[in-house]
Amino acid sequence: MGGPFWHWFQEPDNLRLVLGIGIAFSLGLVLGIWWKTIARAGREGTGRKGDSAFLKGVQYILTNDHDQAIEQFTKSVQVDSESIETYVALGNLYRSKGDIGRAIRIRQSIILRPNIDPKIKLRALFDLGVDYRRGGFFNRALETFQKVIEKNPSSVETLEEIERIYEEMKDWENAYRTRLKISKLTKGNHAHILAHHLVETGKTLVEEGNVAGARPYFSKAVSTDTGCIDAYLHLGDLHFQKGEFKKAIQQWKKVGEYAPQFTFLAYRRLEGAYARMKNLKPVEAFLRECVENHPDAFTHVALARYLYNEMDVEEALQELENALKLAPTFWEARRLKGEILLSQGKREEALDAYQDLLEHLNVPYLRFQCSQCGHQPVDLQWQCPQCRKWDTTDLVHSTEGGTPETTPSKPMIPVLEETNRGG
Ligand SMILES: [Zn+2]
Repeated sequence: MGGPFWHWFQEPDNLRLVLGIGIAFSLGLVLGIWWKTIARAGREGTGRKGDSAFLKGVQYILTNDHDQAIEQFTKSVQVDSESIETYVALGNLYRSKGDIGRAIRIRQSIILRPNIDPKIKLRALFDLGVDYRRGGFFNRALETFQKVIEKNPSSVETLEEIERIYEEMKDWENAYRTRLKISKLTKGNHAHILAHHLVETGKTLVEEGNVAGARPYFSKAVSTDTGCIDAYLHLGDLHFQKGEFKKAIQQWKKVGEYAPQFTFLAYRRLEGAYARMKNLKPVEAFLRECVENHPDAFTHVALARYLYNEMDVEEALQELENALKLAPTFWEARRLKGEILLSQGKREEALDAYQDLLEHLNVPYLRFQCSQCGHQPVDLQWQCPQCRKWDTTDLVHSTEGGTPETTPSKPMIPVLEETNRGG
């Protein structure tokens, strides 16, 4: 029964795809499946009672009714316990419902069958690995996927699963090694992923206090992917910590070259550090160059903060006006404006600035969104937590009067964070 379903059902992605498709398309599929099965049954004279329950199950999948689908598939296997494809479908349904325990037992029952087609067995092993991962049993998932790789070393989807687990376990060195293997098997842009794995390894070493050990990872990340701005940020940090401010700024300038929209991550690093810096000239030169090349609201605010630090109040306020002209809803610019005015004893004007601030408080100037899956993280993350793609999160600027679809509880000014987040 159901040869054509077999390959189709084997793929969890296909199952997911179908679950997400509308009724119209579903109807076409169902009719097609009915037709093929009836034709086959007629040809081969193998129509079985279990088939009708199986087909009902398929219909329920197409209408997204998982509980009914499970009921029908269970009936189908009671009539015909040899039908492996039904077990596979059942396992996938249990997994999609989060009933990982049942999904795992079904895969195991398939694997243990005698005389089973090796391809089907291997697929069940892969599915078992996915179930383990979904259940959070990372070590067992890894062991299972390794068994699949022993049998089929060029299985990219298995290597991607392994890489994903290492990433979730923050075992960045193994994630890197796995991505290297993938890069030898399939075309695509692997350099930026490899670079991120290297940077994350370096960040872990920095956290452990091994700064000297971290540096080669950041440098290798840059030579792997010249556009890896997270690497420049952290190379800059290393210089900064040693008081080599000029060298730090040199690294951060690269961020402006490759991804000017993320230069604010460098500005953040400068904040609060002015008191420690003996010579601020390189900072001023850097900020003025940024205003020249990339005059966004962030840059104007960064320059304003520098100028305020230098006691140049008038020019600082002018920079804030420039920022607010570009981005009237920019929360930080209004707050700094109020702060500066208050410090100058201009209470009335400060109150006005704060009044404006209140009006714009729930309209974030910045939102982040994954270009791949649309996920909107609260702060910048190099790897989307939803679709797990690297470098897909970008800034979404709100424009004056435009209300964002979702209103986050705090202004979206990214903070410096340790792990794989924008910092
Ligand atoms: Zn995403």
